[in-house]
Amino acid sequence: MRFLYFRPRLLFSSSSLFQTKLFINGAFLTSSKAQTIPVLNPATETLLAEVQEATSEDVDLAVRSAKNALPIWSSASPSTRANCLFKLSEIMTTEADNLAWIEAQNTGKPYKIARRNDLSGAINMFKYYAGYADKLHGQTIPISSDFLCFTKPEPVGVCGQILPWNFPLSGLAAKIAPALIAGCTVVLKPAELTPLSALYLAKFFNEAGFPAGAINIINGYGNNTGECLIKHPLVNKVSFTGSTDVGLHIMKNCHVNGLKKVSLELGGKSPLIVLDDADVDFAVKQAQGGNFYNSGQICIAGSRVFVQESIYETFVKKSIEAIQKRVVGDPFDKKTELGPLMSEKQRSRYLYYVKKGVDEGAKLLVGGKKIDGKKGFFVEPTIFANVSDEMTIAKEEIFGPVMSILKFKTIEEVLRRANQTQYGLAGGVITKSLEKALEVVNGLKCGTVWVNCYGVFESNAPFGGVKNSGVGKEHGEAGIKEYLDWKTVIIKQK
Ligand code: NAP
Ligand code: MG
Repeated sequence: MRFLYFRPRLLFSSSSLFQTKLFINGAFLTSSKAQTIPVLNPATETLLAEVQEATSEDVDLAVRSAKNALPIWSSASPSTRANCLFKLSEIMTTEADNLAWIEAQNTGKPYKIARRNDLSGAINMFKYYAGYADKLHGQTIPISSDFLCFTKPEPVGVCGQILPWNFPLSGLAAKIAPALIAGCTVVLKPAELTPLSALYLAKFFNEAGFPAGAINIINGYGNNTGECLIKHPLVNKVSFTGSTDVGLHIMKNCHVNGLKKVSLELGGKSPLIVLDDADVDFAVKQAQGGNFYNSGQICIAGSRVFVQESIYETFVKKSIEAIQKRVVGDPFDKKTELGPLMSEKQRSRYLYYVKKGVDEGAKLLVGGKKIDGKKGFFVEPTIFANVSDEMTIAKEEIFGPVMSILKFKTIEEVLRRANQTQYGLAGGVITKSLEKALEVVNGLKCGTVWVNCYGVFESNAPFGGVKNSGVGKEHGEAGIKEYLDWKTVIIKQK
């Protein structure tokens, strides 16, 4: 069944789109203890579904299924693996309206944005990695002439993958596509708040040709289901996206039953640097996109906007004008740019940081309140000026629509201040000078720098943080290498 754009109220049979069981060994199963988790629509606070919660027994079953599927899947020919990923991408294209509708219902993000960006990002990720199956080469290495030495890539094995709630479907694609094409099998835990698009997609894994057990989806809370998964002795690799605190915890605790390969995509407090030669209108647009996309619930949010002093006042004035035009509201209204926050917890976090900003002396220019009088976790997009480096709002990840504007004089000064953070996920610079842009590119200690743009993602461009923003990469060739081990072979030939 496919739905028309922006007609959610006609969807009386919508609940049939919500798959609620665990997907283990190619079949949907109920939890071994019949435990369930409520899943809400953040725009209405209504219950969408009760999904099954995976107990430690269910996690064990899923991991063993992945382990059993490993010999079949890892020995499948590259073209077989590629065909499965291509087929899944085709099914996703056919199902794009439904998937985007589920994503918008479950996350509150605007439907038109989910349909355009999240879906195309996820589909492209499967296509990109499908094309990689027959391009995983080792090297021949000229050691002593008595020997032939070469390396061959081999799949790491069973992967335990854990997702946050902000980009459920595109996050899933960035994790399972490279793992599968490398020949690994996976057990993936979506965030407990947003499991519905992953479970809907699971309906099609068999049709796409994946053997039973190659992909398992388990729902559950992090401190229970997630913890069992990362510690499971048969899991060879943990790939986690989420907060830095949980990432550090996982890094310390996943090795209890033997060493695992680990990659972590964590939080950020990214700087966006606007130099005084920039077109101010363009810079304001980039800063707004970098702070308010996905209602600010995005790891790469350019939440510290450093503006050079001669254009600071103009930038502030134009930012206030621009924010007032942004439409917050119903995710299924075509005009909406910002949906609600994900949960009451996220809304309290937003309000906590707004209060901190005011209490510590930042100037609240606009926003700062929850939107009363209607259901849903809606808040006003918010801008603070006169923010200084030591303020809490300049140091901690807010994960909501809050932009802080800071003033600087020189490039040397701004680079020092921009790097004064535990994070190193991303950064940006807006300038007409190539020389100055490169100075910033070279000076920022982070995983990605955008020049005269912000938040551009492509399946083949590696992404990942440094410092406390993460370990390892996703997307591109670098992303697939996270799922490969390299065996060195030395053959005596003389
Ligand atoms: P989170 O609280 O760290 O949770 C992320 C995932 O980890 C969820 O599935 C969570 O389960 C699970 N989890 C929690 N405790 C666990 C444990 N002890 N063992 C195993 N798993 C555990 O993060 P979030 O609030 O969902 O997402 C926001 C954060 O993600 C932000 O910090 C953001 O910057 C970061 N993020 C980073 C990237 C990136 O690519 N660098 C991308 C997106 C988001 P529950 O279901 O119980 O929550
Ligand atoms: Mg959480």
